[in-house]
Amino acid sequence: MVVWKNTTDGVQDNGLTLNGFLFLNTLFIQRGRHETTWTILRRFGYDDALELTDDYLCPLIRVPHDCSTELNHFGYQFLQKIFEKHDKDLDGALSPAELQSCFRVFPYVPWGPELYHTVCTTDKGLLSLHGFLCQWTLVAYLDVHRCLEHLGYLGYPIFSEQDSQVHAITVTREKRTDLEKGQTHRNVFLCKVIGSRGAGKSSFMQAFLGKNLAAQKESLGRQTVYTINTVQVNGQEKYLILQEIDVELEFTKVSDASCDVACLLYDVTDYKSFNFCASIYKQHYMDGQIPCLFVATKSDLPQTSPQRSISPAEFCYKQRLPPPIYFTCNSHGAPNSTVYAKLATAATFPHLNDIDLGAASFWIRVALGATVAAVVGVTLYKAVAKNK
Ligand code: MG
Repeated sequence: MVVWKNTTDGVQDNGLTLNGFLFLNTLFIQRGRHETTWTILRRFGYDDALELTDDYLCPLIRVPHDCSTELNHFGYQFLQKIFEKHDKDLDGALSPAELQSCFRVFPYVPWGPELYHTVCTTDKGLLSLHGFLCQWTLVAYLDVHRCLEHLGYLGYPIFSEQDSQVHAITVTREKRTDLEKGQTHRNVFLCKVIGSRGAGKSSFMQAFLGKNLAAQKESLGRQTVYTINTVQVNGQEKYLILQEIDVELEFTKVSDASCDVACLLYDVTDYKSFNFCASIYKQHYMDGQIPCLFVATKSDLPQTSPQRSISPAEFCYKQRLPPPIYFTCNSHGAPNSTVYAKLATAATFPHLNDIDLGAASFWIRVALGATVAAVVGVTLYKAVAKNK
């Protein structure tokens, strides 16, 4: 009766036509009775394989050159719900089994074991909500199409009642415009970590996740190209991505140098490693707009510098760069995170590159205050307009 009422050719000689049969199954699916359709499919010998169509998994998104992609508030809210849904033992972390259950709807495991060296973990080495969101932020920044596909598997459009997963993503405005206006709405920044072999790049990357040298030795494992964490920039939380650069392979084309801040890393015990950074700086960054910071690693060890050469501090002064930041991860507790905050601040306010960031912080607060006032103003206006 239902098929007959709703179709013109669904019923014939008191039986269902092909169209009627398809209509009936569509009805089951629409009313949430998926199990009925699956029962029919299995009865006819199909297995549980399910292929989602490309127009569902890969919705169109336009990312102009010089723009980046970030998860927005809706995206984070959805992912937090997913995390909580799969944290069955309510310990605030996803165990490997809980993570596996989260990915059960994926045709492949999206994140490899390098995950545990890319984001922060709990004391027990499990994936926390913070780490989980960091990893999603990284994927959204590096490969937005992949991110959309993954959100599709998790059913974002259905649960959020949106046309597509694009709803969870914000495409930022062009970096050029940010530079012109002297402010940015971005929340995710990329820092390239550059230095010669043995300068301490990998340790610097892992120290960003709060691991000191002793902890790093314990969790020796896979090399990762990226680490990601949040950093406070003038009271606001920003995501900072560190990318380790293998200079022998990269820096073959101009775009290899592009990022939001360059971290030129040298070993205080090896003057050659400083020379290397200085030459990379001169070759790729000196004439550009990308902020650069020199970081002196292994600062707990005695410094060497040949007598007749220019010292790193003198070099930075002459180039109008901030003085080198001393860093060591050979500490008792978590390594000092000041250097990462400085990198994130330089990335957020690139136009303040060649003046002292400390002295500039007053003006940054003034600018942020103005932004907050503007947002509050618009919200109030909308509320008033709605009530009219
Ligand atoms: Mg758990």
